[in-house]
Amino acid sequence: MRTETHPLLSPSLGTQRSITSFHFGAATPGSWPRKVYIQASLHAGEIPGMLVAHKLRQQFAALEEQGLLQAEIVLVPVANPIGLAQQLHYQPQGRFDLESGENFNRLYSEPSARVIPQLEGRLSQDADANRSIIRQALRAAIAAEPVNTELQSLRQTLHLLAIDADLVLDLHCDFAGPVHIYAHSEHWPLVESLAAHLQCGASLLADAYGVMPFDEAIFLPWAKIRAALPQYPVPFDSVAVTVELRGEGDVSYALAEQDSQAILQYLTGCGVIRGEVAVTPALPHPATPLEGSETLIAPHAGVICMLAELGSVVREGDAIADVIDPISGTATTLYAGTAGVFYVFARHPYVTRGGTVAKIAGTRPLDKENLLGA
Ligand SMILES: [Zn+2]
Repeated sequence: MRTETHPLLSPSLGTQRSITSFHFGAATPGSWPRKVYIQASLHAGEIPGMLVAHKLRQQFAALEEQGLLQAEIVLVPVANPIGLAQQLHYQPQGRFDLESGENFNRLYSEPSARVIPQLEGRLSQDADANRSIIRQALRAAIAAEPVNTELQSLRQTLHLLAIDADLVLDLHCDFAGPVHIYAHSEHWPLVESLAAHLQCGASLLADAYGVMPFDEAIFLPWAKIRAALPQYPVPFDSVAVTVELRGEGDVSYALAEQDSQAILQYLTGCGVIRGEVAVTPALPHPATPLEGSETLIAPHAGVICMLAELGSVVREGDAIADVIDPISGTATTLYAGTAGVFYVFARHPYVTRGGTVAKIAGTRPLDKENLLGA
């Protein structure tokens, strides 16, 4: 294991944060994936992935010592030291940068527009050679971006560590609910067994999110380059998956052991680790379009009480939760507007008007502008 320290831009006198990355194995020519990048807790209040990364670090180090790694692995267990240090009135504030108000998992750069003019005339009919040329160009474009704030240097550091990976796992968690993942629709054949090993309650597929979270910044340039230069074979196998490891309170040795084992079994199946390939269990629920995810919103403020079982399959019209106003003495029942897995429930038992109460992963695309919300 090799450790690298990446200093971030200092925001203030006497202050210096850094990103620590752990490096295992070596990229070997051959089958996908040649390089794997895993990070945890980019939303710094989402801690389950940090404990999973801690387990993975020990396991990757042992596998490397035994000569069983057949690809390069980069692991960043603490992806957001800025957000991790943010507290307001004893409450962790890890989702938004307190200085700029920006979501830590949005606004990554997408450099394809700058890269495409450089690629014309340099690409050939050799897809593998094109992959290398495109990666070098993307890396150079990201490295050349101006960095003026600590947050920008955080984004650039993580982006540069991951941009040449074939497989990126971004470990997050939700408010409360079963494990679920977000992936690009075309990458599903490469991701399905990960979802199965993790026993995902929902697998949400989309072609673009539009707000440039970390995963989208990894795969979207390839889609743009492929569309702009159809005369060349442009590989579309830079896979980036956001893994939501249940809810914020779901941090335990038992869960971290289960999840790290699932990731190791997936990586063994992909050939990253040499070893006996475990039988892939059945996926509990088929993948669904992210556009089919219904968000149940509180029509007024109140105490929320769950009426359906979190993680279960609900039918259209099933009662999901009550919102209770103890001043008027009324309760409003929220019903599923779609059939699917009830996969997210609010973190706090009180909700203000317009707040998210629950999410259901339906199969029917709904009419929505912003697929990810704030
Ligand atoms: Zn998150």
